[in-house]
Amino acid sequence: MKSSLDAYAKITGKEVIDQLYQMASTLRGIKVVHVNSTKEGGGVAEILNRLIPLKKELGIDVSWEVLQGNDEFYKCTKTFHNALQGNRVNASEAMLKTYLEVNAENAENLRTKLEEADVVFIHDPQPAALLKMCPNRRGKWIWRCHIDVSRTYRPVWKYLRPFLVDYDASIFSLAAFAQALPHLQYIIPPSIDPISKKNIDLPEKEIKAIYDQFNLDPGRPMILQVSRYDRFKDPIGVIEAYKLARKFSPLQLVLVGGGATDDPEGALFIEEVRAAAGDDPDIHVLLLPPDAHHTINALQRAADIILQKSTKEGFGLTVTEGMWKGKPVIGGHTGGIRLQVVDHHTGFLVSTPEGAALRIRYLLYHRDKLDEMGIKAKQFVLENFLLTRHLREYLTLMIGLIHGAGERIEIG
Ligand code: UDP
Repeated sequence: MKSSLDAYAKITGKEVIDQLYQMASTLRGIKVVHVNSTKEGGGVAEILNRLIPLKKELGIDVSWEVLQGNDEFYKCTKTFHNALQGNRVNASEAMLKTYLEVNAENAENLRTKLEEADVVFIHDPQPAALLKMCPNRRGKWIWRCHIDVSRTYRPVWKYLRPFLVDYDASIFSLAAFAQALPHLQYIIPPSIDPISKKNIDLPEKEIKAIYDQFNLDPGRPMILQVSRYDRFKDPIGVIEAYKLARKFSPLQLVLVGGGATDDPEGALFIEEVRAAAGDDPDIHVLLLPPDAHHTINALQRAADIILQKSTKEGFGLTVTEGMWKGKPVIGGHTGGIRLQVVDHHTGFLVSTPEGAALRIRYLLYHRDKLDEMGIKAKQFVLENFLLTRHLREYLTLMIGLIHGAGERIEIG
């Protein structure tokens, strides 16, 4: 039977896939567990949904566990998230107690599986305390941080650090996020899956259908930001940029968001976004279900320019997704966006709504530049941010950790 990995060969070249099989041959049969805090919504779930089936196909016995939490827990971990991205927060004693209780409850359910695994990937701070609760672990544990931790709010980092020091390694998306931790730190940026529903090529008529579906005007340029309704994503800054740019060019703005089960702040924040949009019929504030991958794909392809005006960003899969569709991205000059948006080349880096408006205007007046940047953007993703590269780096890391740096490793 043809494996789905072979489908990637058409995009990446066959040698890339052969190399994956070769590397995985030394890991066949090992037990790997990933733990995160949501099955859907947000970048981590998006990545795990695509990465795990491929690891399985390579012969690795991999499973994915989702932490079972409650409202108080998600309030606490969202507070941690905000603090790790630099906000001053108040993490109360009650919150910290809930954090430990929920981790302990989950440890009860998962302990056997986690202690028996050869490799455990713990994603972000939510499940970070599990390691201390699995005293008989036999495998290697890796803390995978997806957040922009370049400038953390120190009291919260100090609280979390003792849960992290016993890990065998941690992974950050870029070097600027590395921390003072007493173990190996790997820099592995995330990736998108080019053959997923979110990213696969679409026939022109499916892209066009999106205009009717959301009452958009096919005759006017459209700018788009896809993001959870989260203050760090700055949708209100995007609305300001749109209002400034519209003075110079006919324009429409689409903001797409959805909830994540571990993000309790979205429902409140979307009301602020709606208020900022006011009664402008050309601002479309959409709330889509978490499986609206095809719709988002079509919107990204229909857009003229993609925005991701975040003020903090661990990586920003939405940037990669937009670039893969041949669109220039106007992105916040921050975190993982800097890794993807090469200023003036694959898009523009901006720090203010005025800056974003200026770049929107420039691109709309220079269509040749817009197209040229879009082509470069797609090529940049092909070379750097596809799932196959991500998988190769995870395999390298596991081989290194399991076999030890000093040993000779026979591959394939
Ligand atoms: N996303 C989605 N629906 C939405 C908003 C976002 O499917 O309404 C997806 C988006 O396409 C991307 C992921 O969720 O694949 C968000 O990842 P990113 O790294 O940009 O941000 P995060 O939410 O992890 O901070």
